[in-house]
Amino acid sequence: MKIEHIGIAVLNLESSIPLYEKIFQTNCYKIEEVESEKVKTAFFKIGDCKIELLQATDESSTIHKFIEKKGEGIHHIAFNVDNVNNQINRLIKSGIESIHQQAKEGADNKLIAFLHPKSTGSVLMELCQDKEIE
Ligand code: ZN
Repeated sequence: MKIEHIGIAVLNLESSIPLYEKIFQTNCYKIEEVESEKVKTAFFKIGDCKIELLQATDESSTIHKFIEKKGEGIHHIAFNVDNVNNQINRLIKSGIESIHQQAKEGADNKLIAFLHPKSTGSVLMELCQDKEIE
């Protein structure tokens, strides 16, 4: 496993993108809405890792709930794996709870799944793999 990206919850991409562009001295390379998660995302490349900014598009979004509870800030850490479904099966067998029982479509051409923070020391972890380009 290696760290693929770090997800940061923000209130407003319009003001957060220029802020992070200033900090990282690099331009946001992609803005993408993930309807199933009710989020709009913006990506930055920082060396081998990425930063994903997440803004809620609806009050039922987990990002909206997160910000209401904790404010803006680090939301999750995503790890790149060869096969998300194999890893979920392995982790479930070893007693780790997974929010998703099967990989689903995520942003940035990825298949993703989130592990349940109650079995990962309260750190929200995402597993992701590159979607095969057909
Ligand atoms: Zn993510």
